[in-house]
Amino acid sequence: MSEAASGKTDNLVEGLVEEVTGWRRHLHANPELSFQESETAAYVAQNLRAFGFDEVHEGIAKTGVVGVLHGRNGPGGRGIGVRADMDALPIEEITGAQYTSTRQGVMHACGHDGHTALLLGAAKALAQTRSFDGTAYFIFQPAEEFGGGGEKMIEDGLFERFEMDEVYGLHNGPGVDVGKFEIRPGAIMASADELVIRIASGGGHAAMPHQTVDTVLVGAHIIVALQALVSRETDALGSAVISITQLSGSQASNIIPAEVVLGGTVRTLDAGVRDRMEARITQVAQGIATAMGATATLTYERGYPPTVNHAKQTAFAAEAARAVAGHYNVNDQCQPVMGAEDFAYMLEEKPGAYIVLGNGDGPVCHMPDYDFNDDAIPFGVRYWIELIERALPAE
Ligand SMILES: [Zn+2]
Ligand SMILES: [Zn+2]
Repeated sequence: MSEAASGKTDNLVEGLVEEVTGWRRHLHANPELSFQESETAAYVAQNLRAFGFDEVHEGIAKTGVVGVLHGRNGPGGRGIGVRADMDALPIEEITGAQYTSTRQGVMHACGHDGHTALLLGAAKALAQTRSFDGTAYFIFQPAEEFGGGGEKMIEDGLFERFEMDEVYGLHNGPGVDVGKFEIRPGAIMASADELVIRIASGGGHAAMPHQTVDTVLVGAHIIVALQALVSRETDALGSAVISITQLSGSQASNIIPAEVVLGGTVRTLDAGVRDRMEARITQVAQGIATAMGATATLTYERGYPPTVNHAKQTAFAAEAARAVAGHYNVNDQCQPVMGAEDFAYMLEEKPGAYIVLGNGDGPVCHMPDYDFNDDAIPFGVRYWIELIERALPAE
């Protein structure tokens, strides 16, 4: 982009910051839970129409919205998808902000109010300039927190109905300075799976363990053995977490329970490691139970897959971020996080990248005193504009 053009974008964004801040605070005051984002979706759609979008599609995966914006040469050419999430969390807000949640027990504690507002800001700017060739798809997805709205949008035909070559996502990052970006090629967020192991025997009197099989002892052996899957069977440069977080047995100190239930979570950064974890956890639990004379039944429920950035699109996104924030304010080799994100499903379908936008110091996401940092708005809006202009360069 020429310096003159870049200066023009700066001025355009500067003029928009106040308005975007207003949208952000409106959304913050009116949070909606996963798959209930009907007011938010209507607000988004109404704004996109007012900006002069070519098409606005509502009701994708219940409350999802896709805005279609053609470049200066009309339809045709490449297609780029840019995605924001819209849902809030079941948390009682304690920020004390002027624009605090008006809904008891519901708050935007993950900054999705900010993500939605940023994308609307870029949408308004680009609808004015149409400073690109091809088509930009603005994806506003429901239910990132619970229910995998991103996956549901794909099932609802997101990529068949809208021809996208690449797809990009963004999340605010508490602890990352405002004005900085972080990204990495490969896995940037983990898979999140749930595990339940039921260990059964006949149960019996605690004074006569030899007459039964002690399900608690079997459970203890299983818990210890599962940790060896991480420490001894996973490449030290790979990553896996198994946390057994729930353990229930009998209600009395003198009864060996007929059933012990273990529950936990499994996180990985790699599809192969994940497959292996599922298979080995099952083998180890059942093998130990059998060896000790009990049985083990497993439910392994897969949640979000790892969020894996594609190398080429990651380098591309990092360049766009550098144009916005300056070379040294973009870390393109950041550490992955063992949290999970449902943009992962979109990156399984299309090449693309997910970037972290600095939110400054302060509480982390999902805390009742967390708030999206409005100082990050100019950086986020400019990033989206820059990314689309670079991905769909005008002749
Ligand atoms: Zn969240
Ligand atoms: Zn989030």
